[in-house]
Formats: sequence, C-alpha cells, structure tokens
Amino acid sequence: MTPITTRGSWTDAATVVVVGSGAGGGAAAWALARAGHDVLVLEMGEHQAPATFDQREENMLARLFQDAGSRASVDYSVGVLQGKGVGGSTLHNLNLCKRLDPELLDVWVAEHGLAGLPARMSEAYDVIERTLQVSEVEASRMNANNRVVRDGARALGWRNGPLRHNRVGCVGSGFCELGCAYDAKMNSARVLLPEASARGARIRAAARVTRIEHAFGRVTGVSGVALDAAGAPVGAFRVRCDAVVLAASATASSALALASAVPDPGRRIGRGLTLHPGATVGGLFNERIEGWKGIPQSWECTEHLHPTDPERRIWIVPVFGHPVGVAAMLPATGALHTRLMGQFAHLAAVTPMLHDSTFGHVTADRGGRPRIHYTPNAADLRMMARGLAWSAELLLAGGAREVWLPTAPPLVVRTLVEARALHDRPARVLDPPLAAVHPMGGLAMGGAASAPVDPTGRARGLRGLWVADGSLFPSSTGVPPQISIYALGLLTGQACAASLSA
Ligand SMILES: Cc1cc2nc3c(=O)[nH]c(=O)nc-3n(C[C@H](O)[C@H](O)[C@H](O)COP(=O)(O)OP(=O)(O)OC[C@H]3O[C@@H](n4cnc5c(N)ncnc54)[C@H](O)[C@@H]3O)c2cc1C
Ligand code: SF4
Repeated sequence: MTPITTRGSWTDAATVVVVGSGAGGGAAAWALARAGHDVLVLEMGEHQAPATFDQREENMLARLFQDAGSRASVDYSVGVLQGKGVGGSTLHNLNLCKRLDPELLDVWVAEHGLAGLPARMSEAYDVIERTLQVSEVEASRMNANNRVVRDGARALGWRNGPLRHNRVGCVGSGFCELGCAYDAKMNSARVLLPEASARGARIRAAARVTRIEHAFGRVTGVSGVALDAAGAPVGAFRVRCDAVVLAASATASSALALASAVPDPGRRIGRGLTLHPGATVGGLFNERIEGWKGIPQSWECTEHLHPTDPERRIWIVPVFGHPVGVAAMLPATGALHTRLMGQFAHLAAVTPMLHDSTFGHVTADRGGRPRIHYTPNAADLRMMARGLAWSAELLLAGGAREVWLPTAPPLVVRTLVEARALHDRPARVLDPPLAAVHPMGGLAMGGAASAPVDPTGRARGLRGLWVADGSLFPSSTGVPPQISIYALGLLTGQACAASLSA
C-alpha cells in the first residue's frame, strides 16, 4: 500500500470515493475493491509507518488523534477521543472485538425497522473476524491490572469473562493507544487497505473532504482541502465520482453531510448522537501492578450490563493511562498530586462505561468540522454514579488498599461499606468528568422514511451517497463498536458495489 500525499492542489476521478479510512472506510473500500470497482479513499490524516510510532504521548496524541486528543462536547461535559491517519481510529484503539448482543439487535429490528439485520450482521462478523484474525486473549497474557478485575468480580460473584481481540505478533508493550510500533494490530491499515490497494484501490492521505458535490438529487463528486503535515491547508482538490461512501466517523460524517446540504426530509442528519462515555476509577495496591505493561484490556465485568435493562447499563473494564494522561486525570493538585504520582506503579484502574440513553447531536462549523452537542441526562448521571460505586467495590474486592474516585471534590474509599454508600450520591454534570472513545449515531439507519439512511447503508436524501461508519447505529451499543463498524462497513460496501454493478 502506497498512499499518495499531494501538498498542493489537485484533481482526480473515480467511480466511488470513500471518505475516511478507519474501521468503516477500510471495510467498505475492501468490499468495493474486491468487487472490481475503481475506488479512491480520501483520508484527512497522514500515512505513517508504524516503525515511526515513538510511544511518547506528547508526539503521538497530535499525530494520531483529532485535535491532538483535546476534542470535547461544546459544554465540555465529555471529552471525545477520535483518530486520524490512514487507518483512522483503528491505529490507536485497544483492539477489543465484541459483537453486539443479539437482544439489542432484536430491539433494533422491532423499534427501527431493521428486519434481516441480525442475520446479515452475523455473516459479516464471520467474514471480518476471520479476515482480522480475531481470537480470545490467551490467559497467560493477562496483566496484573486485568487480574484485579477478574479477581474482584469473582470475589463479588459478579459476571465476568475474557475478551477477544484482533492482534497478531503482539509483544505486550502496552502502548496500543499511542499506535503500535510493532505493527501487531490486524486493523484497517495493516489488513483491509493493503488488500484493497492490491486490488487497485487508490488512497490519498492529507485530503480533507469539505463538501459532497451534488446536482439534481444525485452525487457528482467531492471537494476539499489538501493539508500539510501539521494539518494546515496547502491547496484545494476536486474529485468527480458516481458514488460517495461516507466513513469519516460518527460526528465527522454528519458534519460533512450537513455542510454539504444533503437533502434530509426527516431532518434527522446529525441527530441521535450517543457517546458511550466513561470515567476512570483508580485503586491503590500494596503490591506493584505496573498497569502499563502487557495487553491493556483482556478481561471484562458484565454484571451490571444488560442490553435492555435500564438499571443495568454499566460495562466495567480495566484501563490504564500513560504518565501524562494519569497525571492529568488524578483527582488532586500540588503535594498530594506528587504523592499520588509517586504511587504510579501501585495503581490499578478501571473504567465504568455507560450504555447511554442521552441523545446528543452534531452540527458543522464554518469549515465543515463537527461540533458535538451532548449533555448527559439525569438517568445517565444517576447510572454513572452507580458505575463509580460498582467500580470502587470491584477494585476493593480485587485487593485495593484504597480507591480514588474522580468526583468533585475527589473521594477516597477504603471499605465496601463506604463504596456502597456511593450509590446514593447525587449525580451532576462534570462530576465525574467523562471521556468517550466510542461516539455513535448521527446518520442512523432505519426502516422508516424519516431515517437518513436505509437498512442497506444507502442515504435516503441523495442518490449515490452511502454511509459505512459508526454514524449508522440507531442507539448506543453499550459495548465497544469497532467490530460492528467493520461489519457494517463491509455490508455497505457490498450493497454499494452491487448497486454500481447493476
Ligand atoms: C483510545 C481509543 C480506544 C479504543 N478502543 C477500542 C476497542 O478496543 N474496541 C473497539 O471496539 N473500539 C475501540 N475504539 C473505538 C473504535 O476505534 C472506533 O469506534 C472505530 O474505529 C470507528 O470507526 P469509524 O470508521 O466510524 O471511524 P474512524 O475509525 O475514526 O475513521 C474515520 C476516519 O475519517 C477521517 N476523516 C474525518 N473527517 C474527514 C474528512 N472530512 N475528510 C477525510 N477524512 C476524514 C478521520 O481522520 C479518520 O481517519 C477506541 C477508540 C479510542 C479513541
Ligand atoms: S500491546 Fe501489542 S498491540 Fe498494543 S502496542 Fe504493544 S505490541 Fe502493539
């Protein structure tokens, strides 16, 4: 795979343009190229060789994350981490692969008119999991942070189990979130885009699409700005094409559709945004945990997660930050902060992630970039307060001497009784601060004429426009979405390919 980078103005033509090269874009481009179509992938980020990933937060956040990792909702209630670069967010993600719960898919069938989706998803999961070599993380590879979650859940009698991942040749460096210097991630960049490229697909990096061109109700092309290595504009481009597959992520795809005035009779474009936000809870142990070593997430606690029970909407997994990230998150300043950072090696951490019922929305700024409007509703704030309490219980049952909660003001609990008392703590916005790595929705698929996208991934308002990314979900999934986005990207790519061949 040799992506083209042009630091100046250019023009091009293709049968189909895929906007974005992450999970959804990679899978769609792969399907389209395998079907023999003339595909051009446009990616705003750079093409970067894994060997240049230096595992330093101050460098890699700017290289692999949108807005250098500082993206947030307009009211700052939730930080939103999204990726950029050839490979998108699959460059820096943690490689967990968790299928959607069949019960959630049944709800989507009943409430969103997505009949047939469960069977189509099941086939697509099989293909993608085989292609990305998804497997269960071997027990021998579990690090101490994950053992805390397993042992704590077992001690409490809570449901727990191993996770599956898409990694081959992983040396357990623990730096997944900063990009894998060992090229062990079986992701869009390592697997799907190279194969699409081998079948003739072209990839252009540093090309930010700002407009989907259309006339008389159908797509005619895209236009945008060519960027320098720092993301500043250095030229303009235009591509003529018959079809556009939007895969710029939940948030960016909606913003692009809005900025392009894509017809939207149901006025739903940009609506229905969910974030699956989480907080970080730390536990201090007598023994060294050294949570930065090894595969970051290999075990989950699902006791408080059920796809349809409004009182069970919390998924708990281990999480571990590198030094700068941890320093920024610690609930303390000054001498106390110094003391806490001195305990870095003895920290374990988990994140309670919320299957959110809040629906936010996306708008586009004047440059067509996404603005995220999302404030957690009261039910979600209550559920997150419980998530903190359950996380504290889990860490204490796993052997923590004390648990630090990112509340305002920060709280420390040392016993299960103290942890359980947190269930009744009033919940407020920014208490705790939330971060989201799984935005979803904005261009939801659905059977109703008001849904912006039909169940096959075809946009309703504009002929020749398709959607293949995390925007498609009609509600929060409650679990990490990458494998489902790969699967949906594949389904959209196949449907678009079939329509181009017809
Ligand atoms: C730290 C972190 C860890 C994660 N870990 C996991 C995990 O373990 N398991 C899991 O299931 N999920 C995980 N995720 C989430 C997962 O990576 C994403 O849900 C998934 O990659 C989203 O796929 P996508 O195709 O919708 O978008 P992305 O993969 O984000 O790809 C979108 C691409 O479009 C590009 N783009 C945006 N706008 C434009 C434009 N206007 N023109 C051209 N290109 C554009 C972006 O630069 C980006 O490369 C994680 C996310 C983060 C941030
Ligand atoms: S833990 Fe494995 S997949 Fe993650 S960065 Fe290290 S080698 Fe790569």
